[in-house]
Amino acid sequence: MAPTATTHPTIHRLDKRLINQIAAGEVIVRPASAVKELIENSLDADATRIEIAVEEDARTFTVRDDGRGMSREDAALAIERHTTSKLECFEDLARLATRGFRGEALAAIASVSRFSLLTRASDSLGAIELRAEGGSNTRLGEAGAPPGTMVSVRDLFYNLPARMKFLRTPVVEWGHILKTFIRQSLARPDVAFVIRWRAKPYLNLPAAQSLADRLAAVLPRESGAGLIEIDEQVHGVRAYGCIGAPQATRRDRRHQYFFVNGRPIVSRPLTFALQEAYRGLIMTQQFPVAAVLLEIPGEEIDVNVHPTKEEVRFRNEPLAAGAVHRAALQALRAADLVPRLDLPREPGARLAPGSSNASRIPPAARSGSRGGVFHPSTPSTDPREAPPPGFFTPGAPVGEAVPGANAEQLPLDSGKGEPTGYSPVADRSAAAPERYSSAAESEEATLIARLQAAEGPPNVLAQIELTYILAEAPGLGLLLVDQHAVHEKILYLDFMRRERATEVQTLLAPYTFEASPTEAAAMELLAPALTAEGFQTTHFGGSTWLIETVPLVFDKIDACAFVRDLLDELGGADLKAGLELERHRIGARAACRAAVKAGDPLNRAEMQELLDEVLRTPEAHRCPHGRPTLVLLSKDHLDRRFGRT
Ligand code: ADP
Ligand code: MG
Repeated sequence: MAPTATTHPTIHRLDKRLINQIAAGEVIVRPASAVKELIENSLDADATRIEIAVEEDARTFTVRDDGRGMSREDAALAIERHTTSKLECFEDLARLATRGFRGEALAAIASVSRFSLLTRASDSLGAIELRAEGGSNTRLGEAGAPPGTMVSVRDLFYNLPARMKFLRTPVVEWGHILKTFIRQSLARPDVAFVIRWRAKPYLNLPAAQSLADRLAAVLPRESGAGLIEIDEQVHGVRAYGCIGAPQATRRDRRHQYFFVNGRPIVSRPLTFALQEAYRGLIMTQQFPVAAVLLEIPGEEIDVNVHPTKEEVRFRNEPLAAGAVHRAALQALRAADLVPRLDLPREPGARLAPGSSNASRIPPAARSGSRGGVFHPSTPSTDPREAPPPGFFTPGAPVGEAVPGANAEQLPLDSGKGEPTGYSPVADRSAAAPERYSSAAESEEATLIARLQAAEGPPNVLAQIELTYILAEAPGLGLLLVDQHAVHEKILYLDFMRRERATEVQTLLAPYTFEASPTEAAAMELLAPALTAEGFQTTHFGGSTWLIETVPLVFDKIDACAFVRDLLDELGGADLKAGLELERHRIGARAACRAAVKAGDPLNRAEMQELLDEVLRTPEAHRCPHGRPTLVLLSKDHLDRRFGRT
């Protein structure tokens, strides 16, 4: 075929401005991302003071530093894409000491805002001012200014309406900016950081603070108390910084900050490793505050995996996580971690005799007798009931705990010199969460054994707030039991011990479970697994499923709530790709829904029955989620508390 003269090329080069705007889409997703890049530039320029001012709309802000500044030539080049002073060859990436290296931030920010850069190099007499609008119409002029650099960004995204639509309210965007600011400021407590919002000073962090002081300054006041310093080196990885006292936890992870070689990052394995060190010291759904810095040889990480450099890839992730875990664990053990068991002082802890709490219970809740809730079980020696992967396995510490010592002292006393249960060599392939040990576990693991060996079984005294059982453990002291957690664990172990779904109860009225459209596909996959475990589940039609039997162990279960829990739990996973519905998951979820709840009134006989069951179940010291189920206030502790010794 002969080429015709009328062919127009359909492929053409994008113009520079458009390229920058496209790049901005990756790097600058919201005002906070621009602020982050600007702070990083200031730090790279060796600033000792960084001041930020954020205006009303959170799309207009300035970042000013007293750093190195730029020459006229550099200033003009800086807002071109792929211009950087920090990287010359690919090998430099591994040794990188600077925050920036991609050379695209300024170009990207300038292309999506009304931008100005005022800069004066330390050795120059005058300053340079560069202005641009949407990355074009660039003007360069002389100006007067102190040494350093001030970037002002106005009307971010004014020329990208689509991006602007995705912005949240100014207050929310301001929240993101503040978070960015805090993360950066924690990485460099030696540098002064100041931020203003709507023309008012918001945070003023002086230079040369210790990390603990800086962390305390940015945290809500009650969380900054009693910070614990950590510092450990494991196989060339150093983890140091500050972690929160177990008494000062938060409901979310918002105040956990991680850094790798000075760079703020987000990392699930590190978060998880930290949490594990607190296991047994804090409740589930509670999270410690922390600023943890890792120092890792440059070739062990790849910083170039994410456009905003918020994630890094570790060559040996378990090693990094292990260092965090070890550092936190050692510090928690060394710190004075006497649990806060100030019962005599607490005004809220009214002791209600088990039989006289009638007035607080709605009649409906009282109607069903709980008799027979606790199924007889034989002493557990069956190896099959060892907790499955994912659950706590009492590890090395158990044998080393000191029997008879005071519960409240054990985390300290027994902790010395113990292995953490983490071995970087053995655990290379997986984070092996169940191998982590915590400071509190050795003490608890021996508690039931001590109760068994006591002069007599615990005597129930009362139910507290319909949640805890209070008992006297002869010769040991006062025992407090979380009624839900302990029952949950007992049911779970009972279920896991049984062969299969032979012992089921056929329900006269089956449960009808309505799946939502998003749950329907998951139900198809779930039904056979449920049926195999004794929850006979059949498709009734449409989005309706029938659950016709339940395992005897779980005869008190709310089966619909249980199935919903399971779907929620599996929700994040790619169900089709790998539905790992191990038995233990079903068991743990079902146990939670079948166990007595906090808030359920129990009479004395029921409480005694539950305690008897506890004594037959040495593993009951933790619930399936890893929370402790029992607390002992030893006689010694009480004596000390009342000043008798
Ligand atoms: P990168 O930081 O990846 O090098 P940027 O686009 O953020 O890319 O910045 C481009 C260059 O501009 C930097 O390499 C640096 O030389 C210069 N620069 C940017 N901000 C500052 C600043 N606050 N002070 C001094 N130089 C700066
Ligand atoms: Mg930069």
